[in-house]
Amino acid sequence: MRNFVGLMTNFRGKIVLLLYNKGNQELPLYIAFHNYSIDSHRIGLSPRPPRNERIFTVFSPVIVRRFAISLACSLSLSGGCSLLSRRQVVVPTPIPTPAGPQPPKIDFARIRPNELGVIPVIMYHDIKDPKPGNKPRPLTRSIASFKQDLEVLYKAGYRPVNLSDAVNDRIDVPTGLSPVVLTFDDARASQFQLKESADSLQVESNCAVGIMDAFHKAHPDWPMRATFFILPKSKTTMEPFGQLGQGGQKIDYILQQGMEIGNHTVLHKSLRRMTSAEIQQEIGGAHKSILEAAPNAKISVFAAPMGEYPRDKKLWPLLLKGEYGGTPYEYSAAFTAAWRPMPSPSSLKFNPARLERIDSVDGLNGIRDWIKKLSDGTAGMPRYISDGDPQVISYPKGDAPLANVGKIKAEGKLAYAYEPFGGTGGSKPIVSDGSTPATMTKPGIGPKRIVGGASATPGAITETAKPVTRGR
Ligand SMILES: [Zn+2]
Repeated sequence: MRNFVGLMTNFRGKIVLLLYNKGNQELPLYIAFHNYSIDSHRIGLSPRPPRNERIFTVFSPVIVRRFAISLACSLSLSGGCSLLSRRQVVVPTPIPTPAGPQPPKIDFARIRPNELGVIPVIMYHDIKDPKPGNKPRPLTRSIASFKQDLEVLYKAGYRPVNLSDAVNDRIDVPTGLSPVVLTFDDARASQFQLKESADSLQVESNCAVGIMDAFHKAHPDWPMRATFFILPKSKTTMEPFGQLGQGGQKIDYILQQGMEIGNHTVLHKSLRRMTSAEIQQEIGGAHKSILEAAPNAKISVFAAPMGEYPRDKKLWPLLLKGEYGGTPYEYSAAFTAAWRPMPSPSSLKFNPARLERIDSVDGLNGIRDWIKKLSDGTAGMPRYISDGDPQVISYPKGDAPLANVGKIKAEGKLAYAYEPFGGTGGSKPIVSDGSTPATMTKPGIGPKRIVGGASATPGAITETAKPVTRGR
C-alpha cells in the first residue's frame, strides 16, 4: 500500500495533484485537469490514470485540506518543477488557447508586408476631356488618364479603401497588396452624372462614378471604394454634383455602393484667416446639411478648401472637433492638398490633424510618379504592403522604431515585427546539388543559415546548412 504524504486539490473542481511516499522520495502521481469526485473516502480521477493507480484511499476532506496547504509550501520550497519532471509523472498538457491575434501564416520573406508604410491618397477634381481645341484645364483629369490611373494602380498591386477606413486602421486588402484612396473634391458635375429615362436614372459611363463602376465590373477584386469631399447645397453653392434635385439621391447611391462622403465646408472659402466661430460654422454647417440630405452618412474625414489651413495652429483641432448650431462634429482626420503619400495610421509619423494628398497630375510628385517611386523603392519611404490580416500590424524589424505600438495594442491588434530574411513559413536555404554542400572557406566563419521570426531560433548556426543568399 502506498503511503500518501499529501494531496492537493482545487476544490472548485479542476485540478488534483497526488503525492505518495516511496522510500524517502516524495513523488507526484497524477494531475488531472478534468472532473473528479470525492466519494466519502475515495477519490476518482478522470481521465483514467493507469489501472493500478485509479482509485486511492484517502482521508477525510479536513485532512485533505491540511495536506493541500503543506504540499503547496513544500512544492514551492523544494522545487515543484523538478518533482514534476520525473519520469513517473503523468501530466496531461492543456492546450494553450492563444490570447489575441496571431501572426498570419504567410511567407514573410517573400511578401515582405509593411503596414507602417505610406498610403497614397489621390486627389481628383474634374474628370473630363477639354473641349476640342482647348488646353487641359487645371484640376482636371482627362477621362482616358483617369481610366489609365485605375489600370496603373491595379497592376501595381493597389486596391482602393475608403479614407475613413485608411485613417482608422481598418485597412482590409489582400495579402501582398497595398491600399490606395481615391478622393474627389467639390462634388463637381463630372464626378457623378445621371441620365434620365422614362422610368429610371442611369449612371453616365464617362463620369467618375461610371468609370469606377465599369472598372469594378471588369476587375471584381477592385471594390467600389472612394471618398467624396462634397459641398452641400447652400445659398451660394449648387446642388452636389450639379444636377438639380438629384444631390441627395446621388449621395445615397454613393453610400449604398460602399463609398463615402467627407466634409469640405459649406462655402469653400480659405480657412487661413477665419476665427474659431467661423471655422466651426463652415465645418459644422456642412456637417449638418449633409446629414439632413443623407441621414445615413457617417462623416469622419475633412478636407480643407484649397488645402489651406488656419494660420493659427491653435485652431487646427477645430478641423477635427467642434460644434455649430447645436450639432457637434467629430472627425478622424483632416487633409490638406499636397503632396506626399499619407503615413500609415500605425506609424508614429501619422498626424490626423494634418495629412496630405497626392495630386492627380502627370509629372513630378503626381500620381504616376509616386506609384512608380513606391514600386521601385526610390520614394524614400516604404510602401504599405498588407499582411492580409487587419488584426495584425506586420512590419520588418528594421522599421520597428516607426511603430506606434501603444496605439496598435489599444486597438486590440498585434504589432508584429518580423525578421525580413526569414521567419514564419519563410524563405528556404538555397542548396547546391546536395552531394557537395556549398561552404564558405574563410577560416573562422562557418556557413550560417539566417533564420528568424516567431518559429525559428534567432541566429542559429547549423553545421550542415547552406548559406542563404536572399538579398534585401
Ligand atoms: Zn475643393
